[in-house]
Amino acid sequence: EHDREPVEPDSDSGEIDENTPNIARMYDYFLGGSTNFAADRQAADRLLRVFPGNLEWTHINRAFLGRAVRLCAEAGIDQFLDLGSGIPTKGNVHEIAQQVNPRARVAYVDIEPIAVRHAHQLLADHRLVTATRADVRDPAAVLAAPGVSELLDFRRPVAVLAVAILDILDTPDPVGLVAAYRDACSPGSALVLSHSAVLDITTEEVEGAQEVFETTTTPTLTTRSHAEILEMFDGYELLEPGLVPSAAWRPEEPVSEDYAARSNAYAAVGMLPADD
Ligand code: SAM
Repeated sequence: EHDREPVEPDSDSGEIDENTPNIARMYDYFLGGSTNFAADRQAADRLLRVFPGNLEWTHINRAFLGRAVRLCAEAGIDQFLDLGSGIPTKGNVHEIAQQVNPRARVAYVDIEPIAVRHAHQLLADHRLVTATRADVRDPAAVLAAPGVSELLDFRRPVAVLAVAILDILDTPDPVGLVAAYRDACSPGSALVLSHSAVLDITTEEVEGAQEVFETTTTPTLTTRSHAEILEMFDGYELLEPGLVPSAAWRPEEPVSEDYAARSNAYAAVGMLPADD
């Protein structure tokens, strides 16, 4: 079940299975999108019954993504590699980045064919944004895919986004996986990462959520500790305020500790220092 068929990078012709709940489409449903099927909505509703805080988690996560992308663009980074980008919805990375810099380039990568197909439709005339269907657990294939290698110049800074993805990947070595992308990047590049953690969620809620995940195309959900998530930033210098609950990462308005805990995830932005 955990093995996937090989994915053709840069192809959007993958099989669409409407009957197996899919996290990209469930996430779209939580964000108010319409790119989801009955099986996705049923699983999403089951998830909300076992863990009502999931809806807030989704919005807090998406808002963190927006703030972090804006900050990277304002810091002068004009290339983005979005790993596990999801179905294009509100507040897409290219929209946020291009508000700051109209010439910003964004390479979206997702394994879900509908996510990639929708992105292709949305981006039909867009020369600076690509969508590639690939498995982010295979960094060599992702980096070699034309949608990535022909759009992004890794001799210049790139922001790698791993937002709400490493916790659902069935991979033995998430730290090594992040490092493989880091090693392709030059000094001044960024890592934007968020990852599920147990902050304001009970053991029963975590187990209930995991049971729902088992019925989806990404059957594992792994929460990790602050220390385990921090390890993923190996080689990066964390920007202030460091690795904190996602809602507390440079919020537009001050947030209470209670609200921050409802992030049930830690998030940070790290920068690769100049080598000297
Ligand atoms: N990063 C977006 C965000 O934070 O708003 C979307 C997060 S969504 C929870 C996770 C996404 O990862 C889904 O779109 C899913 O299809 C994608 N995904 C899951 N496993 C993947 C894999 N092995 N390779 C590429 N994408 C994957």
